[in-house]
Amino acid sequence: MTLEKRDYARMFDLTGRKAVVTGGSRGIGRALAEALAAHGADVAIVVRSTVDRAEALADEFRAAGRDSFVIKADVADPADVTRMAEEVDARWGLCDILINNAGIVLPGNAEDYPFQSWRETMSVNLDGVFLVSQAIGRMMIRQKSGSIINIGSMSGRIVNWPFRHAAYNVSKAGLHMLTKCLATEWAEHGIRVNALAPGYIRTELTDEVLREHPDVVANHWAKGAVMDRIGSVDELAGSVVYLASDAASFTTGEIHTVDGGLTLR
Ligand code: NDP
Repeated sequence: MTLEKRDYARMFDLTGRKAVVTGGSRGIGRALAEALAAHGADVAIVVRSTVDRAEALADEFRAAGRDSFVIKADVADPADVTRMAEEVDARWGLCDILINNAGIVLPGNAEDYPFQSWRETMSVNLDGVFLVSQAIGRMMIRQKSGSIINIGSMSGRIVNWPFRHAAYNVSKAGLHMLTKCLATEWAEHGIRVNALAPGYIRTELTDEVLREHPDVVANHWAKGAVMDRIGSVDELAGSVVYLASDAASFTTGEIHTVDGGLTLR
């Protein structure tokens, strides 16, 4: 068999695929949007407030020949999510790839933790993933295909001590289980649902902690991983392109870990 006949190189090709990325204006979501576009996908970027940054990114994608547009929507708001899906449907009539990346962290001791912060964390990190998956999932069921990738976390698998992130950790553990449930329910519709569970990744979200607690970062974040460092957003891109592509055609319900070995010990 010749190399050409096996066609392995094109398994990762996403040319013309329609992708929705929530929280695609910055950090991990932005890198994932860029990676999908670099592999040929058209990308809709969903953001709550950083519309200007998302518009600038969509301009870059369009200049490179992709179809790209921005949707301002709060993933935790059912009406916003319905409108978001209608915009995608009106523009493309389908959606091949959904990246549920939007997420927040609101730290605090459990004994003092405001119930409002608990609810807000669950609303964005868990309800938001359910709502967006449901709205886009209906389109995927109609077309009988699709790949959904939920951005979970190693915090959904272990307690990232000494941080006090109970709400965040529980939301990400829930996201991992939701991934498995949707993978099971929607396999018969040709939809694959997987999660990515990153370790500590350098973004604006983690930069804030880094500024405030450099000692904690040095002693716990980097040292926790067997690779002895934190990761970059670019180090997640390959996994997401893989999970989105035909190369992962037999992979569903997987919690794909990219954490430099943080959860090994
Ligand atoms: P950032 O805070 O840098 O970016 C978060 C993105 O999500 C922004 O684009 C933000 O848009 C968007 N967003 C937040 N809330 C909403 C909402 N309600 N509706 C729509 N969009 C929203 O985070 P990171 O890039 O660091 O993290 C991205 C994902 O990766 C999160 O789910 C996080 O939990 C997860 N993760 C991060 C790790 C890390 O070390 N950085 C490790 C493991 C997982 P806007 O500003 O417009 O609100």
